[in-house]
Parts: sequence; C-alpha cells; structure tokens
Amino acid sequence: MILTDKEFEVLEKLTEGFGFGKLQDIITLKKHLEKHEYTIDDVECYVQWKKDAILKAQEEQMKKHKEKVKPSKDALTKVLPKCPQCNALLEIIPVRVKEGRQNVHGYKSVLRCFNGDCVYEKYGREPALDIVKGLVGAVHAKILGYGE
Ligand SMILES: [Zn+2]
Repeated sequence: MILTDKEFEVLEKLTEGFGFGKLQDIITLKKHLEKHEYTIDDVECYVQWKKDAILKAQEEQMKKHKEKVKPSKDALTKVLPKCPQCNALLEIIPVRVKEGRQNVHGYKSVLRCFNGDCVYEKYGREPALDIVKGLVGAVHAKILGYGE
C-alpha cells in the first residue's frame, strides 16, 4: 500500500519517539514472526508472561531470604534469659559508656525486662555481644545486629 506524503508525515510524527533504528528492528521482528506464524500480539503476551515469571522468581527469592533470617530470631527468643520477677523475656543491651565516672563498675551490658510494666534490670561486666554469641552463636548474633 502506498501512503500520501501527508500520511507519511503523520506516521513520522507518531513514530519519532522510537528512533529510526528501532523502527527497522520492529520491521525485522515482524517479518521474522510472520515467517513462524506469530504476531506482535503474541509477543505482547510473551512479554507479560516473562514479567510474571521474573516477579514470581523475585518473590520466591525474598521468601527464601526471610525464612533464612527468621529462625535466628526464633532461636534467640527460645534461649533469651527470662525475667526473675515477671518471667517475661529479657533484652540484652550493650552499655556504650566506658568505665569511668559515669560507669564506675565498668559495666558492659544490661539485661532489661521486655515487659513495660516491670522495672527489672541487671547490669553486668560481660559484653552484650559475648552474651548473645553464647546464646545463639556468632553468625546469628551478627544477623540480630550485635557485634562490630
Ligand atoms: Zn520483668
């Protein structure tokens, strides 16, 4: 089919965002598809199918990662010391203040009750990192945000 100069100008405006090289690629693709009895619509379906597959793979990856991290938190919950006053779990917090006037005993950690209504806390000289490492191991301690 032959278009008028006016129609070619309209077509030029419609396709100018794609660049001339891409237009030639599209023509090559169209001929290639026709040879194998496929259409541009089939390619559109394929692109959607591929996007779905990639998304599904990413979700799968994320789920696996979450499962990998989760057991460590469960592990800590199982082995955390319990509050002697209310039996809630104790939080292990590093003491950042160096031994001196503000920390005369040289405390390096504090066990504090998770229960907001309980005021139990116990200071100690063992570093928080060492306590957590002793409970869940070095790798899990790092995942949980303890350590260097
Ligand atoms: Zn308590």
